[in-house]
Amino acid sequence: MLDIETLGISSNAAIISIGAVKFNLGTFTIGDEFYQIADLKSSMDLGLEVDAETILWWMGQSEEAKAIFKGNSLDITAILYVFSDWLSVNSIVWGNGAVFDNVILSNAYKKANMTRPWGYKNDYCYRTIRSLYPEIEMKEIGVHHNALDDARNQANHLIEIFKVIAEKELK
Ligand SMILES: [Mg+2]
Repeated sequence: MLDIETLGISSNAAIISIGAVKFNLGTFTIGDEFYQIADLKSSMDLGLEVDAETILWWMGQSEEAKAIFKGNSLDITAILYVFSDWLSVNSIVWGNGAVFDNVILSNAYKKANMTRPWGYKNDYCYRTIRSLYPEIEMKEIGVHHNALDDARNQANHLIEIFKVIAEKELK
């Protein structure tokens, strides 16, 4: 499960953090976690975009979420290398929206002249599945809009949804 935080909502938005968690829908388990804060200037230097609406939106978020702007950041290109290394071969990458996390991260790889570490058939959308099971609520733990907390909550939510699907199939 991938969750990125950005300073824009275009497909070339500037990334400010990447959170991800490995999980298994066969065993319903959560695995390794990934979290890095990206240096905003390095994202903008790559040609990634900031928009005014998103900056204003961030100003209205909680102090805990905004702590990201004071955290230790790394050059975005360095983070892309580390993420490629972290991601398992043949991983399915789930994002929150068909055109958000996966597309924006893919475009960052493109701008950095790097190959993204997952195949085009492995782009999955958590938001679509979630919308099909509105009765199954997400248990939110941690800080809303912290990329790792969001990724972890979404992965756990998807596991809960798949448990329900598995139970229905058994009936
Ligand atoms: Mg998020």
